[in-house]
Amino acid sequence: MFMPTIVYLGGMSRSGSTLAERLLGELPGVCPAGEVVHLWRRGIVLDEHCGCGERFSGCPFWRKVGEAGFGGWDRVDVGRFEELQRRVDRTRFIPLLAAPALMRPAFRRALDEYLTYYQRLYAAISDVTGCRTVVDSSKHASLAFCLARSPLNVRFVHLVRDPRGVAYSWTRRVNRDVVAGTYMRTQRAARTALQWDSQNIGMELLAPTRAPVLQVRYEDLVTAPQAVLREITAFAGLPTAGGLGFLGGDSRSRWADLGVAHAVSGNRMRFATGRVEIRTDETWRLALPPRTHMRVSALTIPWLARYGYLRAAAPIREIVTDLGR
Ligand SMILES: [Zn+2]
Repeated sequence: MFMPTIVYLGGMSRSGSTLAERLLGELPGVCPAGEVVHLWRRGIVLDEHCGCGERFSGCPFWRKVGEAGFGGWDRVDVGRFEELQRRVDRTRFIPLLAAPALMRPAFRRALDEYLTYYQRLYAAISDVTGCRTVVDSSKHASLAFCLARSPLNVRFVHLVRDPRGVAYSWTRRVNRDVVAGTYMRTQRAARTALQWDSQNIGMELLAPTRAPVLQVRYEDLVTAPQAVLREITAFAGLPTAGGLGFLGGDSRSRWADLGVAHAVSGNRMRFATGRVEIRTDETWRLALPPRTHMRVSALTIPWLARYGYLRAAAPIREIVTDLGR
């Protein structure tokens, strides 16, 4: 089986990964798989909806992938997968994953077995689609570290978004599965800020281990999608023979023409097809209560400067819908 290149989108959830994945998925030879970390429970066990609108079990794409990779999804031991996940794929194990020489043999064996699930899945996706690149928008820094310890060719894109915008997004009820009408989890801003810290610090720790990492800001992706996509394609060695003709617009409004994607799990944008507007979501600047704004800023302050979020807030010109989480 051919082993494709993996473009792994990492960082805190609600930082534009679904948008980034959908745009990358329009490039020739690139298959957007969605949040692969959630495929096992939400896809195989809970049978949630694929980005194409079908149930996971009813989607012809995923059925073929399951057969090619595992001889059918019923042959996958999800309980075993989750046991391995608990043993190796946790934020607290990042220091150990960063220093493989310190790993106990039992940890290494569990990690290798855990990675076989991903390797078989990625290879099967490539086999079924003919794509040489698979995009995985799982986001967790701990999984990024696990994958960095595998023989796979993984290019890590670290997506960063202003933590105040992320915190606001997490306080809102957002559709996860537009077909089933289920919602993404909500949580308090302070908790989001601490997770934002740990996920971003986790991704920051990847580069010193010589893993190839490209940092991309959500705010740049939505204001200059062509430029950012060119940066990612150059970094990941993706083909751009077809150009970026699926992107258009001017400095005031931007859009993308999206086909059907079989992305599993993620926000409602994975279901979007046709011409989709790409707009900056600055709602939080008005809607986030001042005390919450200050609390999130205080909890993330060392990184606000690093990522360029300490500048004075731009004047609000319009309230827009939150599209690019
Ligand atoms: Zn599908």
